Amino acid sequence: MTAPARDTFRALLAEGQRDRYTTALKEVPASALPPGELLIEVVYSSLNYKDALAITARRPVIRLLPMVCGIDLAGRVLESTSPDFSAGDEVLVVGEGLGETRWGGYATRARVPAEAAVRLPARMNLMQAMALGTAGLTGMLSLLALEHHGIVPGDREVIVTGAAGGVGSVSVALLAGHGFKVAASTGRPEVHDYLRELGATAIVAREDLAHTGPPLAPERWAAAIDTVGGQTLASLIASTAAYGAIAACGLAGAAELSTTLYPFILRNVALLGINSVRPPKPLRFLAWERLAREPLLGKLQTIATIEPLSGIKPLAERLLEGQVRGRIVVDVNA
Ligand code: NDP
Repeated sequence: MTAPARDTFRALLAEGQRDRYTTALKEVPASALPPGELLIEVVYSSLNYKDALAITARRPVIRLLPMVCGIDLAGRVLESTSPDFSAGDEVLVVGEGLGETRWGGYATRARVPAEAAVRLPARMNLMQAMALGTAGLTGMLSLLALEHHGIVPGDREVIVTGAAGGVGSVSVALLAGHGFKVAASTGRPEVHDYLRELGATAIVAREDLAHTGPPLAPERWAAAIDTVGGQTLASLIASTAAYGAIAACGLAGAAELSTTLYPFILRNVALLGINSVRPPKPLRFLAWERLAREPLLGKLQTIATIEPLSGIKPLAERLLEGQVRGRIVVDVNA
């Protein structure tokens, strides 16, 4: 087999129409890369819920075709026309429209605007950056939102739902590293030991949050990070203690929410929305600087596994079936 010519790069390319497209690994001409100040040699990407939806065409994540999939990337700058970056700099790009409106990270090359890139923080390597990826940023934005609301470690637990998933795993380890008592909610009995290893002190069965209850249940949670939505989120709202807060970042269970106003107006419970795709620049930099200083970095070996880009399709199916634990780092050269 001959080596691919240097004027092409390897990518998972989606081609077709928005409502009917196929994805395949292809050699793509480098001249097809979109404009942008930074040409990046991608080393790692990651697999997120949104990536799985895009790869399997389950939801209309991809807004422009053809599209290189992958909402995260980490790698080295090969060429820069921006004064903020030089060749050789290690960078990460998370969200910012990658894999949706801008060619993404499932490729050996990417070209992006400088404003989308974050210089890799000191003390963080490219593998760790993608072990965190969108999930890590989302977990940190959730923690920052809870902190901003005045939530501090105390006797009451903070609950994380979808705890064995990517955002969930990172959030459990982040909160535990900050001294919070963490309850982890999961539907998988086989991950209980894993969640305890990440720092959870209690396990809550997914089923326990799945039923409609009274609008005001006993006050159990100081706060929550919810990746599930639907009835799970409604249950959390009803059982969060007075002056508590819930960072709502996911809808792995359902996008709908049926609740009452009682927890909000009788207990001052706050519902805080989280979006990691394009946070304001200062918040994005703060979040990555904080992530680089977290005890969480020491847990990433437990949370993440590295998988080849060539095997991404079956992995995406497994993730949507709820069978993937923690985070998957994608080796784009394999
Ligand atoms: P994962 O697939 O890694 O994790 C999702 C977890 O949710 C599963 O592991 C499972 O946890 C739980 N789960 C799955 N299906 C159901 C169900 N039907 N009912 C209850 N729980 C379920 O995904 P991610 O962590 O990448 O993403 C989680 C959610 O967060 C997604 O909805 C995603 O779109 C959203 N998200 C939002 C972001 C934002 O910016 N707001 C950024 C990143 C993700 P367990 O096995 O422990 O029960």
